[in-house]
Amino acid sequence: METVVERMRDGIDEAGIRRAGEILRRGGLVAFPTETVYGLGANALDADAAEKIYRAKGRPSDNPLIVHIADWDAIGKIAVDVPPEAKLLADAFWPGPLTMILKKSAVVPLATTGGLDTVAVRLPDHAVARALIRAGGGYIAAPSANTSGRPSPTRAEHVIRDMDGVIDMVIDGGDVRIGIESTIVDLTEGTPTILRPGYVSREMLDGVLGRVETDRALLSEDENLRPKAPGMRYRHYAPNAPLVIVEGAQQRVRERINALARENAEKGRATGVIGTDESQGCYTNALVKSIGSRTDEASIARHLYGILREFDDSEVSVIYSESFDTPQMGAAIMNRLIKAAGHQIISV
Ligand code: AMP
Ligand code: MG
Repeated sequence: METVVERMRDGIDEAGIRRAGEILRRGGLVAFPTETVYGLGANALDADAAEKIYRAKGRPSDNPLIVHIADWDAIGKIAVDVPPEAKLLADAFWPGPLTMILKKSAVVPLATTGGLDTVAVRLPDHAVARALIRAGGGYIAAPSANTSGRPSPTRAEHVIRDMDGVIDMVIDGGDVRIGIESTIVDLTEGTPTILRPGYVSREMLDGVLGRVETDRALLSEDENLRPKAPGMRYRHYAPNAPLVIVEGAQQRVRERINALARENAEKGRATGVIGTDESQGCYTNALVKSIGSRTDEASIARHLYGILREFDDSEVSVIYSESFDTPQMGAAIMNRLIKAAGHQIISV
């Protein structure tokens, strides 16, 4: 199939949105920008369409999809027993990078929810995304638009790299604003529980609800604890070369990475380093990329996946990364980085 690229970097193109909506209504796949990462959209209420997403991504069929809506009222059709916390969170964070897990209604096919009786719902803070959702029927299942296991796409070129010839259309909205996926909070079992950290931090949720837990499996290295979000069980976001995180005091981290890079150079192996604007000049014997500034955590989140993908275009045989425990998004950034590193961490 030929993948059509619709350019909407400067906002909504009504005719393009109509064409995209038409594709979704007849069961096709359209990738589109959101404020978090690019999504791969299909009609969430059409089991055959949802199944196409799993095939295009190579995604395990037990890993459910997030249903994207364009208005709060849309929730009534796909969820039942919606608790008051949902409205409180929507008022505080929607449109925005927060996904809520609710009990699903009968209209949502099990293909969309990975066989679960719950449904994940999000209202994205992106005008093109919302226009597309409305044009496509109001309920668009959309996981990140990458091949399963690869870093999530933060610009249309990343989507095209993974999905060209496999999906009907990509809407090119330029670079995304946030760069890591939404926070997922489960509202179906007692105390609201964070299943995936994201832009909306635990403190921000606490501020609205007064009580929030974090899925214990996310905080523990114990492999017997299964994360409640099926997607958090899989290795993810991985670049081709092995990635190792080096954590500790910044000066010692730099020294250790330089020592490792020197050893590699002596063996004729090329090293990649993920540093910051502040540290990049300190490294030798390595291909160094800055992820952003330590004084601007949004820049670190925004560049994380792009940098992992950039290293795939270079010949490095190992990548070392500094650790980024930033105030608001640190939990989310480190969650993604540790998964990308397959838990390989050196403490200095
Ligand atoms: P992605 O859209 O690729 O960022 O992945 C969606 C994430 O949401 C995955 O980690 C899923 O496992 C998770 N998810 C979606 N629906 C549910 C659900 N009903 N219960 C728990 N986690 C869910
Ligand atoms: Mg994903």
